[in-house]
Amino acid sequence: MRAVDIIARKRDGQSLTDEEISFFVQGFTQGSIPDYQVAAWLMAVVLRGMDRRETVALTMAVVHSGKQLDLHDIAPFVADKHSTGGVGDKTTLVVAPLVAAAGVKVGKMSGRGLGFTGGTLDKLESIPNYRANLTIDEFRHQLASVGLVVTGQSADLAPADGKLYSLRDVTATVQSPPLIASSIMGKKIASGADGIVLDVKVGDGAFMKTEQEAQNLARLLVEIGQGVGRRVRAVISDMSQPLGDAVGNALELREAIDTLHGGGPADFRQHCLTIAAQMLLQAGKPDLLEATTALETLLDRGEAWAKFREWIVAQGGDVRYVERPERLPSARLMLPLAAPRSGYVSGVRADLVGLAAMLLGGGRAEKDDHIDHAVGVVLGAKIGDWVDTGQPLLTIHGNSESRLAEVSERLLEAYRWSDSPVIPPRLTHQIIV
Ligand code: URA
Repeated sequence: MRAVDIIARKRDGQSLTDEEISFFVQGFTQGSIPDYQVAAWLMAVVLRGMDRRETVALTMAVVHSGKQLDLHDIAPFVADKHSTGGVGDKTTLVVAPLVAAAGVKVGKMSGRGLGFTGGTLDKLESIPNYRANLTIDEFRHQLASVGLVVTGQSADLAPADGKLYSLRDVTATVQSPPLIASSIMGKKIASGADGIVLDVKVGDGAFMKTEQEAQNLARLLVEIGQGVGRRVRAVISDMSQPLGDAVGNALELREAIDTLHGGGPADFRQHCLTIAAQMLLQAGKPDLLEATTALETLLDRGEAWAKFREWIVAQGGDVRYVERPERLPSARLMLPLAAPRSGYVSGVRADLVGLAAMLLGGGRAEKDDHIDHAVGVVLGAKIGDWVDTGQPLLTIHGNSESRLAEVSERLLEAYRWSDSPVIPPRLTHQIIV
């Protein structure tokens, strides 16, 4: 078998055999197929697509590129969640301790932000000394003792995905359903969870821009997972504006801490309850209403917060910073942005807000860029709100005057206006089981 023939077959729109896909992924992981051939193949996949069988074969090739965790000696059921990527999406910070406080073990390997989307690990690393590089033994031990662990992807698990993702990011080949599905499910299957709730984002601030695209991806993800015996369901959720009010690492962590104390923005709290309730249903709770009520109580009585605290301590984080969130990194400069007109807000382009947070230094343009945890944006008006001319629309938190000025111009373009009342978007579009 030759890599060049496999590239040519995909270029010409043919279906690849399972053996060809496995040969290609193995060759890339082991270094016998070079980046330039893989880049050409990825572009052929983006342009020509893959059918369901090929996508499953690609997923399993990613799974088999490394070790597979079996966690059944620790718990009969381990829960996990994964978001396809959004702006202001700090859901894991609340949902993981909330579900663990409900007695279901949560073991999760998270990622870092890239481009305009944020990453859970970057948010957690706003806490001094938080360790996001646990070994597999440490992961297993903490899952058993605390019932909750969130770390970075181990190099031993699905290594093909790490290599493929880095290459996709710099060759404009991220946006492809079979590549996204095999990337997400390859990692999830390898990391051993029994139940996986997939938060498939749709809208300007997501990879999937339309409802149809999101539905197709969600069905594909669910089918792949169920095909290998995992309980998988997908929640298609809104990303036409940022989730909650805060965008930026430490700012989002503070908002998550407020939510764990029973406060936080209403849309964010609601979304956390939706995802957590789906995780409890997967774990065997029979009734959605009962699950949601139990979760609300855990949030309001501080039990989810207590579990969060225990988790941060177990992972080495300096707990004084989460107990007194004002100690978390804060930007030197804060610039309110005034509304240029009065009216109802009809849109807040999540991608532009995410990009602004990145340009302020809160995200990476390149994989190894250093990030500033303090910077970001806090929204003061969202879709449906009435705003008077001159009222603050949002506040920019930055550490550089020139970046602040550049970003404020771009952020004005994120807002859309209407003279008549606007109904805020539904948070949950659909649940696919
Ligand atoms: N998240 C992933 O893990 N992989 C993708 O390809 C896209 C989003």
